[in-house]
Amino acid sequence: MPLHEKLLIFAIPAFVVTMAVELWWDRRRKTGHYAAKDALTSLGLGIGFLVCQLGWGLLVWFAYSTGYQHRLFEIPLAWWSVLLLIVLEDHSYYWYHRMSHAVPAMWAAHVAHHSSEHYTLATALRQPWTTGWYAWLFWTPLALLGFHPLWILTAQACNLLYQYWIHTNFITRLGWYEWVFNTPSHHRVHHGTNPQYIDRNHAGIFIVWDRMFGTFEPESEKVVYGITRPVNSHNLLWLNLHEYLRLWHQAVATKSLWRGLMVFFKPRWRVQLSAYEAAS
Ligand SMILES: [Zn+2]
Ligand SMILES: [Zn+2]
Repeated sequence: MPLHEKLLIFAIPAFVVTMAVELWWDRRRKTGHYAAKDALTSLGLGIGFLVCQLGWGLLVWFAYSTGYQHRLFEIPLAWWSVLLLIVLEDHSYYWYHRMSHAVPAMWAAHVAHHSSEHYTLATALRQPWTTGWYAWLFWTPLALLGFHPLWILTAQACNLLYQYWIHTNFITRLGWYEWVFNTPSHHRVHHGTNPQYIDRNHAGIFIVWDRMFGTFEPESEKVVYGITRPVNSHNLLWLNLHEYLRLWHQAVATKSLWRGLMVFFKPRWRVQLSAYEAAS
């Protein structure tokens, strides 16, 4: 089994233990962050995600290995190349995530991750199933640079695992760490529907990308979690497909191939949903 798959499988016991601790603390403090049906839905989406990734893996592997065959540099395995890979992989993640909010067809895939109105470690497992059709676009340049496809997949798995622990309400602020790294506070903002929180803090590991590219927002008022057009469903397929269907209906209504394509692919900056709704 390749390393990136091992990492994700071996992390499962740690997920179970930490979620149990968070649930126990939630019950004890009567904070009401956990809802059984919501947490089970997140769990189902997490399991389905792992299965879907195996399928998307073919496309991803084809893209990365084609890039790698045409690589620009021979990069040896060394401390500096590992460090460089971690930074560049996270930079790719930032743009992948930012575009997942801006391009309607990509948002249709990513929305599943935002569909919960709860914010717990279980929410981290709420992974979308259909991002595979475009995700490879953002990491193939690294293969072209000279990073081996297996290294990229391993770095991606590390990034995903890093983002697990930041899905919690029980860690408030972390001092100097907040300047450089993505934290529970920064990512709570990302899951917020409060107007100033929409399309902010797209970071994976390093929050510096948001600070550099102007998408950073600190946590100030209490976060209202979810999406501005609640999906109100626990159906795993519907959570992954409803937004595609909505775009499809909108595209058909334009009665023009070009305008229909624009419904799916024209980026809408900083309008995740609210202004987007007003426009449509
Ligand atoms: Zn997001
Ligand atoms: Zn998240």
